[in-house]
Amino acid sequence: MAKVVIIGAGPAGVSAALYARRGGAEVTVISSEKDTGSLIKAHQIENYYGLAEPVSGAELIQRGIQGAKRIGVEFIQGDVVAVAFSEDFHGYQVETEQMKYHADSVILAAGAAHKTLPIPGIREFEGKGISYCAICDAFFYRQKQVAVIGAGEYAFHEAAALLPHAAQVTLLTNGEDIAGRPPEALVLRKEKLAAVEGSGRVQRVRFQDGSLLPVDGVFLAVGVAGSTELARKMGVMLAGNAIKVDERMATNIPGIFAAGDCTGGLRQVAKAVYQGAEAGLAAVRYLREK
Ligand SMILES: Cc1cc2nc3c(=O)[nH]c(=O)nc-3n(C[C@H](O)[C@H](O)[C@H](O)COP(=O)(O)OP(=O)(O)OC[C@H]3O[C@@H](n4cnc5c(N)ncnc54)[C@H](O)[C@@H]3O)c2cc1C
Repeated sequence: MAKVVIIGAGPAGVSAALYARRGGAEVTVISSEKDTGSLIKAHQIENYYGLAEPVSGAELIQRGIQGAKRIGVEFIQGDVVAVAFSEDFHGYQVETEQMKYHADSVILAAGAAHKTLPIPGIREFEGKGISYCAICDAFFYRQKQVAVIGAGEYAFHEAAALLPHAAQVTLLTNGEDIAGRPPEALVLRKEKLAAVEGSGRVQRVRFQDGSLLPVDGVFLAVGVAGSTELARKMGVMLAGNAIKVDERMATNIPGIFAAGDCTGGLRQVAKAVYQGAEAGLAAVRYLREK
């Protein structure tokens, strides 16, 4: 049976799973324990169809997941760090910190989070030395000094993509404890960050103790990769920080669909569920035609 892998177990991901599974696909939903999405933060939902009484976001998520499990959807916990096309079997490889999963089609439903940090200079230098995608931009930093901000698997993954190109890669944990085992060739700096500075483009990082680190580029990889970061790595087109989709939730890459908050516009459960349904159906259609 053809396989759909869905990244995200919020209303968009679970709705997509219901429709893809009922359309005959084998469906696996991967979701992060560290970044649990938006809905879980909602204290009470009372503007969604069918709720006689308000329910908490956490309760709504559980109801959705139980319903999908009942029809045979598989749920796995893991932080997806990358998705890539695999020549070997003409499909996709979805990579978590521990495992690689093969997919004939992938639905991105990892929520709106575009991970950044409220550190002076980061917004200012976006596109001028601040990057959110190592695999996209590593080539521009051949033999240059680069830094990666982050302290977990996602940051290590980004740093590993830079190591073959850059002269030196420094991991800036910004006061966080390291979670996991970073690549050995990385230089570690654990001090808190004060600013990213430069003239026209990034030239250095300033730490809160006043010390400086000269760098040509800074890559953000804080926490868990968000939808837009994963999309960028695959070459999926964005409009600002939202994933660009057509009316069937198809991205510019065949077999890759997106739904929910990650596509921009209204950030509501009803819209996430609708787009999830379209994405699930579209993935099944794609698999039939493939
Ligand atoms: C405080 C608050 C109150 C709200 N109140 C309402 C309301 O009253 N009514 C309403 O309609 N909407 C409300 N919303 C908005 C609603 O929660 C969102 O629109 C909806 O949850 C979007 O669904 P989604 O599936 O796109 O993303 P999310 O619900 O954000 O789910 C994202 C999923 O992706 C997973 N994920 C993220 N990154 C990764 C990764 N790298 N690897 C694996 N998994 C990953 C997460 O674990 C999660 O399962 C509220 C939001 C908030 C924050």
